[in-house]
Amino acid sequence: MLCVRYLGFSKSERRSTGRNDIDKYTCFKELKQCENDFVLDICDRRTSVTILAPHGGMIEPHTTEIARLIAGDTYNYFCFNGRKEGNNSDLHITSHRYDEEHAVALVKQSLIVVAVHGCTILEPTVFLGGLDSCLKDEIAAELTAADIAVDQPGSAHSGTHRNNICNRGVTGKGVQMECPRPLRDSPDDRVKIAAAVRRAISKFT
Ligand SMILES: [Zn+2]
Repeated sequence: MLCVRYLGFSKSERRSTGRNDIDKYTCFKELKQCENDFVLDICDRRTSVTILAPHGGMIEPHTTEIARLIAGDTYNYFCFNGRKEGNNSDLHITSHRYDEEHAVALVKQSLIVVAVHGCTILEPTVFLGGLDSCLKDEIAAELTAADIAVDQPGSAHSGTHRNNICNRGVTGKGVQMECPRPLRDSPDDRVKIAAAVRRAISKFT
């Protein structure tokens, strides 16, 4: 097991993962040249399952907690945690341009990839996207059984771009979860969501 926390390198939350048109940086090379208020929290357990919080910390609050709960003591995780005093949305790089080297390396060795994101709608519904329809269906079933509402995302949040970080694993398909603020802010709901996703993943491992 290899667990590493990287502090920042050299030097408001977005509505969704799809708004690449307003990202301040187009790639992590640019971001790391200009920003240092972030922490990478990474654990490579040499398993075939990786859970991501690409916009964690103060970028999309509580997505890191959900990703860590899903990973538990079992799966790999990668969390990019924004720690700026303000304007953490500066640290948002959209999912199909998400080229952070540690995230890409971990995902590339994985058969199952789940990326946890935050959206700002008020409705307590989890939106499931990505190209892994089988896992997506199982997660939807488990969330529903846990009384968490699920829905299909609109096209901007569909997570179907082949370069979306969730789809860059061994199979070329993963799952993207958009969690709204009411669910993210609730510790009980975070636990319920994570447990449901873990039950779904366990059917494929
Ligand atoms: Zn996101």
